[in-house]
Amino acid sequence: MSRVTVIGGGFAGVEAAWAAARMGVPVRLYEMRPRKSTPAHKTGWLAELVCSNSFKSLLPTTPSGQLKWEMERLGSLVIPTAREFAVPAGEALAVDREPFAQAITARIELHPLIEVVREEVTEIPPDRPLIIATGPLTSDALAQEIARLTGSKHLYFYDAVSPIVDASTINYERVFFGSRREKGDPAYINCPFTKEEYERFWEALVNAEQVPLHDFEEPKFFEGCVPLEELAKRGKDTLRFGPLKPVGLIDPRTGKRPYAVLQLRPENNERTLYSLVACQTRLKWGEQKRVFRMVPGLEQAEFVRYGVVHRNTYLDSPRLLRPTLQYCEDSRLFFAGQLVGVEGYIESAAAGIIAGINAARLAQGKPAVAPPPETVIGSLLHYISTYPHPDFPPMNANWGLLPEPPDAPKDREARRALKLQRAREAMEAFAKQLGL
Ligand SMILES: Cc1cc2nc3c(=O)[nH]c(=O)nc-3n(C[C@H](O)[C@H](O)[C@H](O)COP(=O)(O)OP(=O)(O)OC[C@H]3O[C@@H](n4cnc5c(N)ncnc54)[C@H](O)[C@@H]3O)c2cc1C
Repeated sequence: MSRVTVIGGGFAGVEAAWAAARMGVPVRLYEMRPRKSTPAHKTGWLAELVCSNSFKSLLPTTPSGQLKWEMERLGSLVIPTAREFAVPAGEALAVDREPFAQAITARIELHPLIEVVREEVTEIPPDRPLIIATGPLTSDALAQEIARLTGSKHLYFYDAVSPIVDASTINYERVFFGSRREKGDPAYINCPFTKEEYERFWEALVNAEQVPLHDFEEPKFFEGCVPLEELAKRGKDTLRFGPLKPVGLIDPRTGKRPYAVLQLRPENNERTLYSLVACQTRLKWGEQKRVFRMVPGLEQAEFVRYGVVHRNTYLDSPRLLRPTLQYCEDSRLFFAGQLVGVEGYIESAAAGIIAGINAARLAQGKPAVAPPPETVIGSLLHYISTYPHPDFPPMNANWGLLPEPPDAPKDREARRALKLQRAREAMEAFAKQLGL
C-alpha cells in the first residue's frame, strides 16, 4: 500500500494525516515550523491558532455546531481535542491554545503510522497520493510552485470580498430585479436609495471602525482593490458615481432612476446567497452589520459572510478542484484547508478530513468520494468546486449553502430545522458508506 504525504501541519494537515492513519495508511507529514515560520505563527506546535481561540458556536442548530457534529462523525482529531481543552466561552467552543496545540502535536507525533518531518517543502514532490495543506500563509517558494502548476491567474494572494447575505432575509418590498440598461443577467437585485438614505449611509460608512492591519499586511498590498469605506472618504459623491451609480436602472415602483443603487449579485446557482457588489471592506464585523443594514432592503439582512480585504493565499478552486478535493488534472494530488477557499479553523480542518479520507482511499485502491451537498461539509466543497463567477470569494459554513429542501416551509426556523435534519441523515449515510 502506498503512503500518503501531507504538506502543512496546520488544521487541515493534522486532520488529513489523522484521517488517513485511522484508515490504516502510513503518512508522512511535512511542517516547516519551527525551523521556518510564517508571519502569523509564533510556535512550532502543529495546529497553532494564529488569532482568536474560538472554534465558533457549539449550538447544534447552528451551521458551525452541525459542522462540528459532522467532523466528529468522520473521526475528527481537532474537535474532541478542543472539547478537552475548552475554556468557558458561553455557547462557543474556545480553547486554551497552548495545551490544545501541544496535545494535537503529541497525538500526531506519537501515532505509529505518522512520521513528522520538520522541513520546508519548496517543490511539489512526485509522491502520490499527496495533500497540499499549507494554508493562507504558504511559504513563498511553494506558493510559486503551486502558481506554476495551476497557472498564476488561478492562485490568489489576498482576499477582497464583499459581504454576503442570506437571500431569504432580503426585504423584497423595497428592492427590484434588473440589470443596468436591461443588459446581461436580470438576476441582480437593486437596492434603491433616496438622497436622504444615501447621505445617512455615506455618513455611517466613513465614520465606521476598521480592522487594524497586521504587521505583514502593507496597505500597498491591497492596491488592486480599494475598500468601499476608503473610496467613500474621497468625497460624498464618489460612490454615487462609482460602485453605487444608478445609471441604467429604473425603479418600477416610481418609474424613476433612484439617487443611488447598491446591487446584489447571486453567489450560487441556487440563488440562496447574494453578495453586495463592489462592497469589499475592512470594517469590523459589527460595524458592517450596522452600516449595511442601512441599505434599503437590507434592514433585517442576515450576513452569512462578512467582507474582508486581507492577506490570504488560496486557489481558484472552481476551475481546479473536484468536490473530493482532487486536483482535476492529477487525481492523486489533493489540496485542503484554507488554500481551497474555505475560511476559518474548523472549515479548514473539515476539508482536511475529506482530503485525508480520499487520499487514503486512493492508497487502498478505492475511489474518492464527495460528501453529499446536503451536509455542511458537502455544501462547502460543492460551493468551492462549482462557484459560477470568475472572482471566487472564500466561504465559511452557513445554512445558505445547503440546497433548499423540496416543499420547504416558508418559516425560516422551520426551514433550517429541516436542513439540519437532512444534513444529519445525509452525513450518517455517508459515514456508513465509508465504513465509519
Ligand atoms: C492573521 C490571521 C488571522 C486569522 N484569524 C482567524 C480567526 O480568528 N479565526 C479563524 O477561524 N480563522 C482565522 N484565520 C484563518 C485560519 O488561520 C485558517 O483558516 C486556518 O489556520 C487554516 O488552516 P490550514 O490548515 O489551511 O492552514 P494553517 O493552519 O495556516 O496551516 C498551514 C501550515 O503549513 C505550514 N507551511 C506553510 N508553507 C509550508 C511549506 N512550504 N512547507 C511545509 N510547511 C509549510 C505552516 O507553517 C502551517 O503550519 C486567520 C488567518 C490569519 C492569517
